[in-house]
Amino acid sequence: MAPTRRGPAPRLIFGDLWPFDPAPETADPKLADRYQLFIGGRYVRPRSGQYFDSINPATERRLASIPRAGAADVNAAYAAATAAFRRWSVLPGRERGKYLFRIARLLQDRAREFAVAETLDGGKPIKESRDFDVPMAAAHFFYHAGWADKLEYAAPGRTLRPLGVVGQVIPWNFPLLMLAWKLAPALALGNCVVLKPAETTSITALKFAGILEDAGLPPGVVNLVTGAGETGAWVMGHPAAAKVAFTGSTEVGKAIMRQLAGTDRRMTMELGGKAANIVFDDAPLDQAVEGIVNGIFFNQGHVCCAGSRLLVQEGVAARVIAKLKNRMRMLRVGDPLDKNTDLGAINSAAQLATIRRLVAAGEREGAELWQPEGRLPAQGYFFPPTLLTGVTQSHRVAREEIFGPVLSVLTFRTVDEAIEKANNTAYGLSAGVWTDKGSRILRLSTELKAGVVWANTFNRFDPSSPFGGYKESGFGREGGRQGLLDYAARA
Ligand code: NDP
Repeated sequence: MAPTRRGPAPRLIFGDLWPFDPAPETADPKLADRYQLFIGGRYVRPRSGQYFDSINPATERRLASIPRAGAADVNAAYAAATAAFRRWSVLPGRERGKYLFRIARLLQDRAREFAVAETLDGGKPIKESRDFDVPMAAAHFFYHAGWADKLEYAAPGRTLRPLGVVGQVIPWNFPLLMLAWKLAPALALGNCVVLKPAETTSITALKFAGILEDAGLPPGVVNLVTGAGETGAWVMGHPAAAKVAFTGSTEVGKAIMRQLAGTDRRMTMELGGKAANIVFDDAPLDQAVEGIVNGIFFNQGHVCCAGSRLLVQEGVAARVIAKLKNRMRMLRVGDPLDKNTDLGAINSAAQLATIRRLVAAGEREGAELWQPEGRLPAQGYFFPPTLLTGVTQSHRVAREEIFGPVLSVLTFRTVDEAIEKANNTAYGLSAGVWTDKGSRILRLSTELKAGVVWANTFNRFDPSSPFGGYKESGFGREGGRQGLLDYAARA
């Protein structure tokens, strides 16, 4: 056992060796056996007649059939949105705000049901979907409802006008929350939307159609089309889109930009990240360890701004790693519906294969792998919390986004070295700094090339705070006044 300053850390092994009474969440997710596209305020069958299965990644069992939208369905969605735009865009802001408030309240009313549906479809622990995803989604609608009748204060001296119809494609890591990030600002400004959720996590978006109906949102203001990447390409490339907003991988983001090069399409791109979480020797180490754990193991590490590169100052590296291992032994991996679970299922078999491939590459290149003891569930896609030490900057695990519960550890000696190493990445989405010195925090927040820099905390989100990247992490902002203005026509 690794020594700490006060002697050996107590050996606490949770895993499967310390049984907890099961505490499953039991709210009814009210799933349909088969969903339909939501176009022009109606539930419509895909013209191809094709459906695919959405499965529960924790059990590999089928949950529901999801329609596969083709080009004709995407055309119909854009036609419905274009027709709705004429009336929606001229509605007084206070009226649009009322719809957004209603949506937020309805989502709160049905929060338990949506949390269970999100966990079943995506594999994330119920405590996260219940305490983070669903409440934050509602908060985004509340926040933007507040802006809808106050747009003159968002850009003083300018009259904000909507752009028109917006095409939006979202990923599988925060399905309902990403939908809220995209829809709420677009609607507050008077735009209409065609949105495609990710193939593996379409259920909460399709359930959300029911909330739009209950809120009485005029038909065609929001249209939901489901399918795979091909459907996404039609949504992004449609000539009727005034703007496209995409969240997902840098690779697909680049493909969309190539597809749209030469057009006057407005774009927001929220792409990958490889955030540095930097721990200095004067940091409160126990607090920092909690921040490191939250930074990389939240949502199984399926987080674009995850603190996936730990940069720790050499003098405290051994202590931090010992404390971290001790803390990681307490993480419970298992049934996402159990309220005790810290790490749920990996979202898909394909993502599990990617994580395994990259971790194997890390070991091949010389990194040392450490995982806590404990058995994983026999069924479903699971991966244990993983530490890779002895990582150097050239290793793939220090450069590529793993998008899983895997932390790569590097060390540094000086502040300059920390900044240089943190910025030595193609990405620039987020970073974390742990130190007692305010002046150092100010210096790092200026010199780190990252859209968000958290100080003595990590993964803090608020609808009023803009979020977005530099470099290959994308451009444009979501949230806050800046995110709102990205949905307004240029003056
Ligand atoms: P993708 O970028 O492929 O998927 C994101 C969304 O884009 C999904 O809705 C997807 O649809 C859609 N899409 C796929 N191809 C196209 C296309 N050519 N045109 C338009 N839309 C398209 O991410 P993956 O799901 O493949 O994940 C791969 C990697 O992406 C992860 O390992 C991770 O590194 C990164 N990622 C980053 C995220 C972030 O928040 N920044 C979120 C998710 C992934 P469909 O799901 O149906 O294929």
